[in-house]
Amino acid sequence: MDITIDRERCVGAGMCALTAPEVYDQDEEEGLAVVLTTALPPHQAGKARLAAALCPAGAITVHDT
Ligand code: SF4
Repeated sequence: MDITIDRERCVGAGMCALTAPEVYDQDEEEGLAVVLTTALPPHQAGKARLAAALCPAGAITVHDT
């Protein structure tokens, strides 16, 4: 799984970190999203995709690898 975050679009809403805290976090300086890991078991992969769908800025792109 490949996950990218467009930090130019991210508005720091934090929905991703709330939805899939194992996958996303927000950096301390700007509050923008970061990806913690892309080595995900199936149930976390689903949450990673859900977080991408819920992101209000459309900043997360998830690709299967
Ligand atoms: S949900 Fe989207 S806008 Fe909010 S912190 Fe995550 S990537 Fe950024």
